[in-house]
Amino acid sequence: MRGVHPPERKDLAERAPIEVLPTPAEVRIALLQHLGAPCEAVHKPRTDVALGDVVGEAKGFVSAPVHASISGTTGRMSVATLPNGRHVAVVPIRAAEEQPLSDRALFDDVLGGEWPTAGLEQCEPEQIVDAVREAGLVGLGGAAFPTHVKLTRNEDRPIRTLLINGCECEPYLTADYALMMEAPKPIVAGALLAQRAAGASEVIICTEDNKREAAESLRQAAEGTGIEVRVLKTKYPQGGEKQLTVAVLGREVPTGGLPLDIGAVVLNVGTAAATARAVMRGKPLTHRVLTVSGAGIRQAKNLLVPVGASYRDVVDCCGGLIPEAARFVAGGPMMGFTIGSLDVPVTKGASGLTVLTQAEVRKAEETTCVRCGRCVDVCPLNLVPTKIAMASKANDMELAQRHHITACMECGCCAYVCPASIPLVQLIRLGKVRLPKG
Ligand code: SF4
Ligand code: SF4
Repeated sequence: MRGVHPPERKDLAERAPIEVLPTPAEVRIALLQHLGAPCEAVHKPRTDVALGDVVGEAKGFVSAPVHASISGTTGRMSVATLPNGRHVAVVPIRAAEEQPLSDRALFDDVLGGEWPTAGLEQCEPEQIVDAVREAGLVGLGGAAFPTHVKLTRNEDRPIRTLLINGCECEPYLTADYALMMEAPKPIVAGALLAQRAAGASEVIICTEDNKREAAESLRQAAEGTGIEVRVLKTKYPQGGEKQLTVAVLGREVPTGGLPLDIGAVVLNVGTAAATARAVMRGKPLTHRVLTVSGAGIRQAKNLLVPVGASYRDVVDCCGGLIPEAARFVAGGPMMGFTIGSLDVPVTKGASGLTVLTQAEVRKAEETTCVRCGRCVDVCPLNLVPTKIAMASKANDMELAQRHHITACMECGCCAYVCPASIPLVQLIRLGKVRLPKG
């Protein structure tokens, strides 16, 4: 597989146990935090809601409802700008004084306790898909595609292999690692349920050789279930769906296609754990684990966070910023989005916050392309990044499409190796925004 080996920097947070974020004074629940149609708000302002109540109803098959992640009172709807630049409607919820769950009890409710795997084969596939849909599950690895859509059986495109993705190849991020270490059982139970829903004949949980302890933790939890745990050679962006499919199954996914085209479905480990919680406990997706890391934060942590908390809340929980903190990246430095403010709500797909210092972000000056071809050599999707970026810069969208701009997964490998410091990914993202709609 093509790709790169950026410095991992996982040492900052990988030994930090998952901590529960204290209940914020307010959360803001975005009505669009997934790929697909936005939700419609169901409550008027000043309505009391309890943890887990539906706040936004899904509109359409490719959509996912959103739920109250704390108990409290709704406020007037407003608009927030998410890290990807989208302006979306948000429902604020002011926290009630009394919360039903916090600290260890909240952790146990979400990830702790027993997750028996015996008898899961009794669950009907439709029952699993319904529970997943009602729980508002989306891919927690970042893409945030509604999970019930992936798991719904389709006779024309049967699923043979379910891959559970624990590669977490993005530098700095260790949320999935912490989950695999501390909560392997819900991952395994969720994998079995997803297998049953999708009708897959095999399940492989994949991780990388820089996370061998996590692989061992999963192997113990999966003993006797028939699930294989496979350790892959560490490489970025191995955690991309298509790259993982190629690495494990040895078969290419067609350009512009999906793993489903070759009989595979990929779920992130966090999505698997949330599947178990949805089906076995009837609980919606209200919380997720994210990493706060980087040299600019006082204490790197893995936090269990209510959806809708602000990045400021998570930074405060980590002791705040050091004076040299210079850039906030929602996610990791390769695929993440720079955010100008910490007052941005955490969404279901948010995997972390990386705070970089001035020294780390010191920018090399952009020069002209020297046609070295390095960007082409590393692109995991066999694209020609320089041509897409230049077409995008020239606003020639027809040419950009001919070079498959929509297939680009924005992994950042091309920009990482470019000796001319050309902001290839930013140019490609800009081009995608300029593409004609529909
Ligand atoms: S063109 Fe897209 S997919 Fe290829 S290396 Fe660049 S960002 Fe990654
Ligand atoms: S890596 Fe940079 S300099 Fe080399 S061909 Fe690509 S865009 Fe041009």
